[in-house]
Amino acid sequence: MTPGILDGIVIRQPQDRLSAAVLSVGSELLLGDLTDTNATWLSQRLRELGVEVVHHLAVRDDLEQFVSALRWLTERAHLVIVGGGLGPTVDDLTREAIAAAAEVPLETRDDLVELIAERFHRTHREMPAQNLKQAQIPEGASAYPPVGTAPGFGLTVAAPTPTRVVALPGVPWELRELFSRYVVDEIRELAGPRATVTRVIHVVGSGESAVASVVEPLLAGRDEVTLSFLARSSEIEVRLTVSADSPEAARAASQPLVDEVISAVGVVAVGVDDDRLEDVVLQRLRQRGQTVATAESATGGDIAGRLARVPGASASLVGGLVVYTFPAKRELLGVSAELVEEHGEVSAEVTEALAAAAQQRAGADWGIGVTGVAGPASVDDLPVGSCFWALAHPDGHVEVHGRRIPGDRGQVISRLGSAAIDLLRRRLVEADDG
Ligand code: ATP
Ligand code: MG
Repeated sequence: MTPGILDGIVIRQPQDRLSAAVLSVGSELLLGDLTDTNATWLSQRLRELGVEVVHHLAVRDDLEQFVSALRWLTERAHLVIVGGGLGPTVDDLTREAIAAAAEVPLETRDDLVELIAERFHRTHREMPAQNLKQAQIPEGASAYPPVGTAPGFGLTVAAPTPTRVVALPGVPWELRELFSRYVVDEIRELAGPRATVTRVIHVVGSGESAVASVVEPLLAGRDEVTLSFLARSSEIEVRLTVSADSPEAARAASQPLVDEVISAVGVVAVGVDDDRLEDVVLQRLRQRGQTVATAESATGGDIAGRLARVPGASASLVGGLVVYTFPAKRELLGVSAELVEEHGEVSAEVTEALAAAAQQRAGADWGIGVTGVAGPASVDDLPVGSCFWALAHPDGHVEVHGRRIPGDRGQVISRLGSAAIDLLRRRLVEADDG
């Protein structure tokens, strides 16, 4: 059977990738009272099925606007999924709108009347007459029997452009259930055998636009891959989505692209998929049989916490001290009052002392020290974001870096942590690569 055909109508030409749009219905969405989690969920499922989502749209409960949105979307996507507006009240307009856009009448389906009546009967409730409305679907549509109260339906529209229009209830669990039971199979029929993988390249120590300026030209015009960026406070994710006829084929097709991106991005690419900064550092330490300890001021234990979250961390993470105040630095790590008086508590010198003390007191191969002004208030005339991170090497020498890190308190803390962990990663990479 040729994929792309439903109800005898050719919806997708063989050379085209199946495209979809999500139309969410309800005035609450436009008033800002409701977040459109249905559209997000549907997009994730559609992507996994190898479908390209081309539009998200929301309309309020207004027939004219609803019909015009439907017409606009049917001209632009092979599949339009409408979420919501299938309830029994006058402001539930999905049935009418789809019938109007397709220029077909509504018909009452006896099998749906029975299913709805049965549900009320089972829960010992009288069925209000207006619930009969929910048994109406556009002529020619296939019904999706209700799992809650509202049935859904799918209608193949021939004109103006062939489109499959699917209507699902707005209640999230009902929408998900009906989508999984009925719509997934229709999509498989329309899309043909497709599978999608998303590969994630983790980048630390570079900005989103700097990474994009390298990766975008590299992948420009490569239709087989969809590129996106996700900026988190501790890293940038470069995401490559690739579709093929099977999961194995999609994965195989993605690998050369991943390799290309990594070599173009360079040393700031720390790892792929499940290998984040912390995982990579601990793997390399384990392979070398080496250990690390931390002494953290501004990050308050975040660095040790991030490392400790990786399974098997105890092979390489000896421990960490939170030395937030000067008395803690003095009592726990022997930082002298003279050093702090001369250079300030947030300084290259004090940070070096922390890294060296962590290494020596814990008997670790490497020591990490950090100080900084996380904000919102400045400290000793140092502006918010002023940070230092130091690394004590196995041969005893200590290197220190300083920079003003942008962001709010949480971002400064996580970026400073990333900078310190990444310094260790870079030195391990250099040592491993000779
Ligand atoms: P029902 O038969 O239950 O009335 P319906 O198809 O008419 O279903 P709506 O009335 O539009 O659906 O929405 C019902 C509820 O589902 C909303 O109050 C809201 O809590 C949730 N909902 C609707 N649309 C969305 C959406 N896009 N994202 C998240 N939740 C939604
Ligand atoms: Mg409703």
